[in-house]
Amino acid sequence: MERMPVVFIGHGSPMNAIEDNVFTQGWKALAKTLPTPKGILMVSAHWYTNSLCTTNVSEPKMIYDMYGFPEALYRVKYPVKGSPELAKRLQALLGSQLSIDNTWGLDHGAWSVLVHLFPKADIPVVQLSVHAALPPKALYEIGRTLRILREEGILIIGSGNIVHNLRRVDWEHATTGYPWADAFDHAIKEAILNFDHETCLDYAHLDGAPLAVPTPDHYDPLLYVLGATYPEEPIQIYNDTRTMGSLSMTSYVWGLPSKEKEKK
Ligand code: ZN
Repeated sequence: MERMPVVFIGHGSPMNAIEDNVFTQGWKALAKTLPTPKGILMVSAHWYTNSLCTTNVSEPKMIYDMYGFPEALYRVKYPVKGSPELAKRLQALLGSQLSIDNTWGLDHGAWSVLVHLFPKADIPVVQLSVHAALPPKALYEIGRTLRILREEGILIIGSGNIVHNLRRVDWEHATTGYPWADAFDHAIKEAILNFDHETCLDYAHLDGAPLAVPTPDHYDPLLYVLGATYPEEPIQIYNDTRTMGSLSMTSYVWGLPSKEKEKK
């Protein structure tokens, strides 16, 4: 079986689920490069828990974990199957550190991007939570443990934002970032392109870090994903931009030979 790539998506506003904009067009262009996976393992910033959790139901429920948005957003459906089989495989790989929590389903960090990446909702999806109590290196190691899934037809997607500071969001800055947001996003990009994962793990020491990552929930999915990469894999970048001042939309794909592979 073909080894699956691994993806990090900067998801930004939940409104991207129902909008046609430069970001969603970037996701669609990204999706065209992807082989068809057997299943999707989604690590969303919005399932942020005090332990490591997954779900093992065959029909994951929709979680509308955002407030004060237009009604249309609460009517979005992503009627995809879950995969008890993939959940079982996660349990085998991660052992007793992983527990099953079927109170969760698909949150907006997952469905707002999946509606664009896989609009047919025909690939089973399992979410894995972001463990809030672990240091960066331990999250990275979880990704390393899961890397084998790429050989088994599983597409690992991290959904978060490398820069995410809602308190600093400024609608006047619709298509730009604050200088500290640009600087932090660029520093992480340089590190990613240089396979310098130590810098990504030690991000708290970078310029702008306290503002760019005031809480680690949206950054952490990147650490799972980096752990699931191989050294020197080709990297493609999409949506390399900041929006509303304090959100980075920068998205990455590892492990595809080149953009020439895009399906027509
Ligand atoms: Zn979010």
